[in-house]
Amino acid sequence: MVLPKRPENVHWLTGQFRDAQKERYYRDSIQAQVRFETCLALILAACIFGMFAITDYFLLGLTREYYLLVAMRITVVSLSVILAFIIARWGSYSERPWLHALPLWIIAIGIILIVPLRPESLGSQVTAVAVATMAFYLLIPNLLTVATSASLFLCVGFLVAAVEFAGITPAVTLRIGLLMVMANLVGFSALLRLENLQRKQFALLQEEREQNDHLLTEIARRKSLEAQLRQLAEKDALTGLNNRSHFMQRAGELLQLAAAEKIPFSLFMVDVDHFKKINDTLGHTHGDRVLKQIAETLADSMRPTDIICRFGGEEFVVALPDTAADDAQLLAECLRKNIASLALQDEMGELMLSITVGIAVAQDGETDLEALIKRADDLLYTGKRDGRNRVVLAVDKASNS
Ligand code: GH3
Ligand code: MG
Ligand code: MG
Repeated sequence: MVLPKRPENVHWLTGQFRDAQKERYYRDSIQAQVRFETCLALILAACIFGMFAITDYFLLGLTREYYLLVAMRITVVSLSVILAFIIARWGSYSERPWLHALPLWIIAIGIILIVPLRPESLGSQVTAVAVATMAFYLLIPNLLTVATSASLFLCVGFLVAAVEFAGITPAVTLRIGLLMVMANLVGFSALLRLENLQRKQFALLQEEREQNDHLLTEIARRKSLEAQLRQLAEKDALTGLNNRSHFMQRAGELLQLAAAEKIPFSLFMVDVDHFKKINDTLGHTHGDRVLKQIAETLADSMRPTDIICRFGGEEFVVALPDTAADDAQLLAECLRKNIASLALQDEMGELMLSITVGIAVAQDGETDLEALIKRADDLLYTGKRDGRNRVVLAVDKASNS
């Protein structure tokens, strides 16, 4: 697989993002970790720096230089501990990088100040400077620019102090200088590599997160589209009731289940009486509104387990699982009354609304939904013939109701 080439977005020399906002975002993301590691490193460095007071004693004894050294060490240790506390409380890697830089400068000044006080132990101090340089780059979390400037200050300051107070020869100065250059080069390259890798990892993670967010949005959009499609495929656009094909599928399954488990099953065929007159009097748009009202009344009058469908025009069909003839008749009567109570107004006065309902009850083991609908439809037309606004039920003798 060929990965697309990403444009280089980390500066080759500073190891920081070229985009200032991205850099800030990155530093914010590692803020807590940097604060913790800085405090830990500072306290450790301060302890080690303070412990050298013991070697000072063996070298100098209780002399004026020793007391001066101890005072300087106590100052550096105290400042480091105070700074560790300040950084833990208020350190902001993105907004106050200078606060994170301060400890490096204090430690550097402390190390440089040892030279005039203990010029005879320059050898061990050179080692300390090399170790401190590496620590500045690699142990105390900081920006490459900060670590580099503090290290260079330490090395140059140490060399100047060594020439000034320890009186080293030009050859020794060159040797120490080269050692410092090497320590700085190694530390700089290692930290640059680290900064680069960390930022690239962060950028990749960000990209992955953005892609995940995009994917989640896309999933939500598709789910909503799917729901809309299902709505279109299953529901009647005007009333929101089940459409005919969806009803046939669901009611068919329920009828099969009722036949298998030998439980009663009834079906209503509902037709609005003289609906044409409503259209003619109030207009087709108003007729649509009336159909919606009837659908709402149907939904309110039936139970959650019943399946209601707009079968076509002003005809509705309801499947009533686990409902025997008597209960079906009661429900149909209740529905008829609820529809009749929907009063419609027109210019001439109140317009009566009524329905005729044909009820078919499934026979034992019956699974033919079409036949059940046909029976209910026949009964509906009997009701129409007999004067409308009524419920017609004919229970087969062999039925289980
Ligand atoms: P009956 O009592 O015999 O059922 O009389 P009816 O007028 O209700 O029956 P008919 O079959 O003569 O007329 C049905 C009317 O329903 C005719 C048609 O314009 C109307 N209709 C069918 N679908 C819609 C619809 O979606 N919106 C509106 N507004 N009217 C519709
Ligand atoms: Mg009608
Ligand atoms: Mg009709």
